[in-house]
Amino acid sequence: MTTDAQTNNKLLEVNHLSVDYFAANGTVHAVNDVSFTLQRGEILGLAGESGCGKSTLAYAVSRLLRPPAYITDGEVLYYPPRKEETVQKVAKRGAVKRVPGEPVDVLQLSAAQLRAFRWNEMSIVFQSAMNSLNPVLTIGTQIMDVLKTHRPEMGADGRKKRAIDLLNLVGIASDRLNSYPHELSGGMRQRAVIAIALALNPELIIMDEPTTALDVVVQREILQLISGLCREFSTALIFITHDLSLLLELADQIAIMYAGKMVEKAPSKDIYEHPRHPYSFGLLNSFPRLHGPLQKMVGIPGSPPDLRAVPSGCPFHPRCPLAFNPCSSVVPVLQPALAENPGQLVSCLLYDKRAREAAPPTMEEFTQRYGTLAEGSNA
Ligand code: SF4
Repeated sequence: MTTDAQTNNKLLEVNHLSVDYFAANGTVHAVNDVSFTLQRGEILGLAGESGCGKSTLAYAVSRLLRPPAYITDGEVLYYPPRKEETVQKVAKRGAVKRVPGEPVDVLQLSAAQLRAFRWNEMSIVFQSAMNSLNPVLTIGTQIMDVLKTHRPEMGADGRKKRAIDLLNLVGIASDRLNSYPHELSGGMRQRAVIAIALALNPELIIMDEPTTALDVVVQREILQLISGLCREFSTALIFITHDLSLLLELADQIAIMYAGKMVEKAPSKDIYEHPRHPYSFGLLNSFPRLHGPLQKMVGIPGSPPDLRAVPSGCPFHPRCPLAFNPCSSVVPVLQPALAENPGQLVSCLLYDKRAREAAPPTMEEFTQRYGTLAEGSNA
């Protein structure tokens, strides 16, 4: 049940969003009927194997998709801030009609409204963001360009001061303002990109695999920086990665995607301690744990499906060690796995009383089934 506090804090509501790529050799169903909500200041991690629809979902939410990708269904509702000062700040911009509490349908915004919406309300850090900096412009110029475009009332001195503040915020010394991207390390370039994303204090930042190209030490520093900044400014974050282990520390909620669908969504702690979907369990089982006894690593068998011909029923059934009779024909829906924990949503027939009367599987059963699989593959 949704409480008043949750309703007031709601920032984003995605309902039944679907995206197809219309290609000559068939239609790719990249995102299929995905719904979720994001609270103000919340960090949501999106995880799954490559090609599961994570990035397409993020680009659909920010209206950055280009043909042959088309949003075929759904809505993306953005709830403007209620804070008095922010509402006034927003009202001054005036480009997007806002009534506090009333959502803006992002998919219906005109091109002009969309330009104002991006950066001001939502910014995005792309995959390979370090390479997205313009190599012939200094870092300072690139930050100030954003301010010049979106805050024309700000003078040159104000822009420079804001650019220095932003660099300091991400741990870069002011004297780097006139540095070109090639004069910075990979970690510093990533910090600079984060500074640009933060330039206008957006309510939401989407980051698509922002740390993939960094070594693990710098990766950790960047994650701590992102987490600290989001907490400090109550900025919501959608963080996309194929590395579930990164999210366990960073995210409040984790959503697992498979074949264009959201198959599990829960607080990070619940996903870590007790994943309910066999695919989530397989992902968690794919990296070594630092604590506890040594365990044999068991990967998920097979490969993700061709999204032009997604398997019938549960799309994971050809790879699922716990598949049973109805899985190949009945499509599971995302719903609470257990009545006593309504916050952990799962799309799996193991938890659907209409498909299976037995009690939900235990972690031991998951381990044993995946273990049997490993023995079979070794035979
Ligand atoms: Fe496995 Fe069936 Fe659950 Fe799909 S619905 S994850 S095939 S048990």
